[in-house]
Amino acid sequence: MGRPYAEVIGDPIDHSKSPLIHNFWLAKLGLPYEFRRTRVRRGQLGAFLQHRRADTDWCGCSVTLPHKADALGHVDEYSRLVAKIGAANCLTRIGTTDRKIVAHNTDWSGFLEPLEPWFKEEATYRLATVIGAGGAAAAASYALDRSGFPVISVNRDLGKAFAMRRRLDLFDDDLVMDLGSLEIPAETRAGSRDGAQDLLVNATPLGMAGFPPLRLDLSRLSPGTAVCDLVYHPIETDLLRQARHRGLRVFDGLGMLIGQAAAAFALFFVESAPREHDAELRELLTR
Ligand code: NAP
Repeated sequence: MGRPYAEVIGDPIDHSKSPLIHNFWLAKLGLPYEFRRTRVRRGQLGAFLQHRRADTDWCGCSVTLPHKADALGHVDEYSRLVAKIGAANCLTRIGTTDRKIVAHNTDWSGFLEPLEPWFKEEATYRLATVIGAGGAAAAASYALDRSGFPVISVNRDLGKAFAMRRRLDLFDDDLVMDLGSLEIPAETRAGSRDGAQDLLVNATPLGMAGFPPLRLDLSRLSPGTAVCDLVYHPIETDLLRQARHRGLRVFDGLGMLIGQAAAAFALFFVESAPREHDAELRELLTR
């Protein structure tokens, strides 16, 4: 037996922050595991998992592009929650004889974690607008629906937005908008929203290094709106800069990144991540 390990898989994988985060926590706890990165190309996930299934040192893997949705077709078990979101970001193995691989989704709880203190504040109304219809948007929409927010979905491909909402049991088709014609939804405009707690979430790569920015006029947002950008490279996107400039509350992508990793860490290593070191971790991730 070698050294027990978990890993992050995807393609490309060099940019992944997961090894930094998990190895930081492992070192803080003095645990004898390591966390690696492994490039797994599209179409190779089945063969890869077959190999890992028999590897007794393997504690599981985080899953990133392009495998988050495909993973469900290569595992033995997943919950109804994972089926609703339609994507897994974490796989583990159970059983020593039949060695089943189980798919989890920790993105939705990771998304929710940094927002929870804000959600505890009093609000007369709540409304969320989630831009995107991929795995991150589905996880965020699931988390927001569960937290009592009506969810507006905005996407380039409307068919994908409708399909995502059907899976999530969000049946109000009036709440789907085309990204090309996106304006601030009338419901969230300033004027009639005193005491409202509204949330705008970017769950697309727009604003990420190498992508165009998300162009959106924030001037009509109600003052009770918070803006959350799931992009974390860069951490301060144009969208967040604009929102901050307008005095709106902002949530950056690192909050979710750390939150989803902490939930995965507990699944891989059966220990809680040492979150008292978050400030140091954020500083490392920002370099
Ligand atoms: P995904 O499943 O590939 O979905 C991408 C979404 O973005 C789709 O809705 C797609 O629209 C849209 N999109 C892609 N390129 C676009 C463009 N040029 N113009 C307009 N829309 C575009 O990806 P994902 O896993 O959901 O990730 C989405 C974003 O969230 C990424 O930036 C990722 O880094 C970030 N993320 C962050 C965390 C975190 O922990 N902070 C976790 C997961 C993801 P169509 O449906 O029309 O193709």
